[in-house]
Amino acid sequence: MNSLNPSSAADLIIHPRWVVPVSPSGQVLTHHSVIVTDGRIAGIVPTDEAQDIQATEHLSLPSQVLLPGLINAHGHSPMTLLRGVADDAPLMTWLQDHIWPLEAEFVSEAFVRDGTDLALLDLMMGGTTTFSDMYFFPDVTAQRTDIAGLRAQLVFPVIDVATAWASNSETCLEKGLALRDEYRDHALIQVGIGAHSTYSVTATTLQKIATLINELDAPLQIHLHETQSEVATALETHGERPISLLNRLGLLGPRTQCVHMTALSDDDIELLTNSNSHVIHCPRSNMKLASGISPVDRLIKAGVNVALGTDGAASNNRLNMLAEMQMAALLAKLESMEATALPATAALEAATLGGARALGLEGTIGSIEPGKAADLIALDLSQSHTQPLNNVISHIVYATNGTELTHSWVAGQALVRDGQPLTLAPDDIVERAARWPEKFKAYQASIDLTGNHLS
Ligand SMILES: [Zn+2]
Repeated sequence: MNSLNPSSAADLIIHPRWVVPVSPSGQVLTHHSVIVTDGRIAGIVPTDEAQDIQATEHLSLPSQVLLPGLINAHGHSPMTLLRGVADDAPLMTWLQDHIWPLEAEFVSEAFVRDGTDLALLDLMMGGTTTFSDMYFFPDVTAQRTDIAGLRAQLVFPVIDVATAWASNSETCLEKGLALRDEYRDHALIQVGIGAHSTYSVTATTLQKIATLINELDAPLQIHLHETQSEVATALETHGERPISLLNRLGLLGPRTQCVHMTALSDDDIELLTNSNSHVIHCPRSNMKLASGISPVDRLIKAGVNVALGTDGAASNNRLNMLAEMQMAALLAKLESMEATALPATAALEAATLGGARALGLEGTIGSIEPGKAADLIALDLSQSHTQPLNNVISHIVYATNGTELTHSWVAGQALVRDGQPLTLAPDDIVERAARWPEKFKAYQASIDLTGNHLS
């Protein structure tokens, strides 16, 4: 394997039971150790050799598998506060009758702070080391993320509706671009543009965004083809399918991240392939809202990069990437009626390298390779539900239940150690989150009493 000059002292050498580097695909190493220096992976060497290398710390993880940190490529962190407020409803009812009215009443800096902290804790303890986020007051999300130490792509929302954060799309862009400037040199946080969707952003605004992403080489994330009815509405309004509209306006390209992508025609897939745009698949959210199914097996075979995302906790309701991988692998089989579709190795790749490519970070994260950032997680596979150890990658994808994380690092900084978060205070976070449901209930009761329903 890749060896390090033994004369140079390392910061940390991890000796896990297994290493799953993700690249090369499907590889499971035993008796190997990972060397971390200056926040980067310096090498993967046989443990016999590694034990003799000088390091500030040697960490033995005898029942753990070490793998690259998981990348949650789509979400709305502060919506953790809305977890469970509106279940079992279709997308537009869920949005228009429940989520948007509650957001109109409650979204504030305090809401975003408390919701983001809860999400960060949830993400971190579920093995996510990099996440993408689209929500109002992204400046607050950036501050909280910086404290937590996770890596993030924050795509500031652009929507042609007045919100507590911005009165119109023009203000969204102004505030968002100022934030992008502020975080230009941040080591872990990058700021991109989050156009909400083609039904909530006008073609004029989308055109403006096309100019901006080209000028700034900025990432763009957009909800696209979330449902069949979104496609039907676009055909009625614009005379073309949402992805064709984006293509015509110059919005597709290697920095474009299309979230959801259900109800796809062969032409739609061709547009994705030819433009090198990315698909972010959110299987649990799509299933819960009965939105549709993204044909990820066909997409991957057509050469499209597929990443995974949880979406917000109001439509999932978990932010656990292990659960998302499982669902992606299972759903792909049902969608294609092929048990060979999205095997465990491919699901794990979508949750790591696929996410890294979508976020433009494949040179930095997504696999355990010398030179890449030391964004790593360790999962304990000694519990009964991951026994016996016939197949490590199979267990990671199909058998975990989200309780396996023991350690996590971002750029070599330890975020979780022996199952304990080091940068966040769980008691305080849970206590602050717990104050919100009472406010939501009081508001819902008050509007129900006057007969002025949430719709
Ligand atoms: Zn979303």
